Amino acid sequence: MPGKISELNECLRSQSVPWLLLFDIDGTLVDTGGKGMVALRKTAIEIFGNEGPPLDLAGSTDLGILENLHTHFGTAPCAERTHRFFETYHFHLEAYLSSSPSEGRVLDGVVELLQDIAVAPHVKPALLTGNTMQGASIKLRHYRLDHHFSFGAYGSDRADRNLLGHIALERALAHTGHAYTPERTLVIGDTPKDIACAHAVGAKCVAVATGQFSKDQLAAAGADWVVSSLREISCR
Ligand SMILES: [Mg+2]
Repeated sequence: MPGKISELNECLRSQSVPWLLLFDIDGTLVDTGGKGMVALRKTAIEIFGNEGPPLDLAGSTDLGILENLHTHFGTAPCAERTHRFFETYHFHLEAYLSSSPSEGRVLDGVVELLQDIAVAPHVKPALLTGNTMQGASIKLRHYRLDHHFSFGAYGSDRADRNLLGHIALERALAHTGHAYTPERTLVIGDTPKDIACAHAVGAKCVAVATGQFSKDQLAAAGADWVVSSLREISCR
């Protein structure tokens, strides 16, 4: 049973305690209007000769997606193909985003929450995303959110999203000098995989129903809090 968001907001407003907020990107901060999917399919055709099986992008890491394509096509992963795959993907992603800039959007409440955080010195925002570091940067730059984030854990670090929480905490220490504990870390994401990766590191998850999953589905997946949009979260 998810907790009351008013109680979480009260904790987040208490300036005596530092918080690390780890944001997912797709379905949480932005909706790219399917540009990521189209870019991945086009890349699969160019690298593997065929777009392959239906891609499950919800909460998956980009390295995990490439692993699935290797399994599907019976090819062995190698550094050269991995490099070529992501170089091609980043090229198409940037091209698709800039070719139809009016499609896709920043999701409800995101700008307001990030602006709140920017003037709340006790709250540090970072990324925990299945996107590669460069893919994350392309998407956030396109939607003008990149200046809010100085580090993160990415889908180019590990194929298994459940390993990304530890990496995020290590990078938080390296970037801020503060050793954030899992108890003072919140993962904010839109899929059951975000919830699982928060719990894998001992953190809690605020699940937001702005992606493919309903509030009921996110609650059933064990989210610690569930919101309709990030408008409901406040740290000031
Ligand atoms: Mg997502």
